[in-house]
Amino acid sequence: MASWRLARSLEVLRDEIRALHPGTTVWTIGDQAHAAGASDHNPNAQGVVCAVDVLGDKGLRLADFAAQLVAAPRHPALKYVIFNRRIWSVARASEGWRTYTGSNPHSTHVHVSVGTGPDGKSAGPYDNTSPWGLAGGGLTVEAIKGLQRAAKAAGFDPGPIDGVWGSKTEAAVTAVMKASGARGPAGPAGPSGPAGPRGPQGEPGPAGPPGRTPTRIAISGEVIATSEQS
Ligand SMILES: [Zn+2]
Repeated sequence: MASWRLARSLEVLRDEIRALHPGTTVWTIGDQAHAAGASDHNPNAQGVVCAVDVLGDKGLRLADFAAQLVAAPRHPALKYVIFNRRIWSVARASEGWRTYTGSNPHSTHVHVSVGTGPDGKSAGPYDNTSPWGLAGGGLTVEAIKGLQRAAKAAGFDPGPIDGVWGSKTEAAVTAVMKASGARGPAGPAGPSGPAGPRGPQGEPGPAGPPGRTPTRIAISGEVIATSEQS
């Protein structure tokens, strides 16, 4: 086969995935089966492969990954995503995830195509090197450094304090979380809720003392006087 290369946008995606989950399998160029038909796994006329298949073999949660890919803001190079018998494409974004009836159910990997146009002939922004936003699960370099320092202080070796989420960092941070019961600090108290319902009525009280007997009541259409005798 003639020389080929992977679309730059997918190089960025692959690097972000492997920064989070080192060693994750990312297939690029198509096999014999792919070569027989039109596929973004086959190089386009410019020799560029515009698809990858990403496996969850190193801890990447594929369902979350697929959902994140199609959630706004999306990467400008994205064309479509296939996962677990469903496909989501930029061209038909308003329809959301649709049923995918291809021969491979894609239940153990996520397919990502980039660019525009038909399979195997992708054009457009497939070499866009904007970040996909996966690195560190949204953690900045400084945040990762903070976790590395905390892990080191707790006695676990995260490797160099470099802000890179490598396998040593992941192991050390995971160990710290396990050691602390995997619980973060408590959050601030929320606002108080509305008052609860009234409680039940109490028991009747004891009988009062006997009343005094009126000795004289003058009535003239209305009570005008009452006198009592002790
Ligand atoms: Zn694929």
